[in-house]
Amino acid sequence: MAQPSLNIGMVGHVDHGKTTLVRALSGVWTDTHSEEIKRGISIRLGYADTVFRKCPECPEPQCYTVEKKCAHCGAKTDEIKTVSFVDAPGHETLMATMLSGAAIMDGAMLVIAANETCPQPQTKEHLMALNVIGIKNIVIVQNKIDLVPKERVLESYQEIKDFVKGTVAENAPIIPISAQQNVNVDALIQALDTYIPVPEHKLEKEAQMLIARSFDINHPGYTYEEIKGGVIGGTLTQGSFKEGDDVEIRPGLKITSDGVTRWESVFTKITEIHAGKSKVKKAVPGGLLALGTQLDPSLTKGDSLTGQVVGIPGTLPPTRDGFLMKLDLLDRVVGVTNESEINEIKTSEPLMLNIGTATTVGVVTSARKDLAEVKLKRPVCVETGAHVAISRRIDSRWRLIGVGVIED
Ligand code: GDP
Ligand code: MG
Repeated sequence: MAQPSLNIGMVGHVDHGKTTLVRALSGVWTDTHSEEIKRGISIRLGYADTVFRKCPECPEPQCYTVEKKCAHCGAKTDEIKTVSFVDAPGHETLMATMLSGAAIMDGAMLVIAANETCPQPQTKEHLMALNVIGIKNIVIVQNKIDLVPKERVLESYQEIKDFVKGTVAENAPIIPISAQQNVNVDALIQALDTYIPVPEHKLEKEAQMLIARSFDINHPGYTYEEIKGGVIGGTLTQGSFKEGDDVEIRPGLKITSDGVTRWESVFTKITEIHAGKSKVKKAVPGGLLALGTQLDPSLTKGDSLTGQVVGIPGTLPPTRDGFLMKLDLLDRVVGVTNESEINEIKTSEPLMLNIGTATTVGVVTSARKDLAEVKLKRPVCVETGAHVAISRRIDSRWRLIGVGVIED
């Protein structure tokens, strides 16, 4: 399997079929964490790779498949491209995870179940998040058509059309499918191939990888010789990495000495690179990568490095513990039944900020109409001009209220 050329996000309300659809397209069940299985929802970001293929003999859209052998004529199918799916949780309390996933999406499938009225709260909240983060390549998946009569499929289609009017998804195709029964999945692959193109990759720039997951892959009982270094999963937003590269990770580690806390970059070496199920010598942007490193695995355990940035030493953006941002707030809170108006940001209020794959809390130290200065609880490594998704605590939940652009 070649290195994936892009990441496609799965977004939408809980239970609408995102994880089932990833399985239909890739054979991978992304809810693997024991708590996820127990609760039947995705808690962490899941990911899976697949190859889109085309039968050389059959007409469109039947020719589109993920199988090596065409189900209609038995011909050997040709590879079109390899993609990674980022499966975001749809549960309303897990919006921070969805937002950090959205930072690495080149496009998204908005999954909407036909057997419920549209929009459900997180259908709305996720579409707003795509809007705020600027993800324009969207395919709408109208799922579970096997559960409802044709009249309801048509009614649901109209609800979806009305809902997306005036949003980034206004002109997105709507593909009716059954992820569970594998109905019309060929037409969906065709739409994904057409509407979520491979982005232009900035290969000549300095490498920057956003960490989405980090792991300790060792099992209890491994001997000293068997222990493997920490593993980091994420996406290169620009540049490339080679096996053997020395790298820096920012903000790195929190060090407290003499009552003073500071963050220090971590340095390590890339020992191996995995992309699209295979080991590669060199990786470029597009799709999710896993880097093997020489880090102590206790440093990467349980997603502890999520939100950090990896690059060649000395080339990363600054680590900031605060910044000034230009604000663009929404008019109303979405994702709740009672959509109240969004008031201005006030001094000393805490905000949840999503910057790249990082989630942090910033306390507002000064606020003017369209500018706010924040002091961060946990620093972030980020360039001036970067986008920040801003959420506010409303009725004990973080709700997306707008976007900021880092000024300084
Ligand atoms: P997620 O929360 O969006 O990831 O939803 P899941 O993929 O976990 O699916 C939620 C439930 O809906 C599961 O019980 C699935 O088996 C079921 N489901 C998903 N897609 C379909 C479909 O197309 N038809 C039917 N009948 N059930 C589906
Ligand atoms: Mg799921």
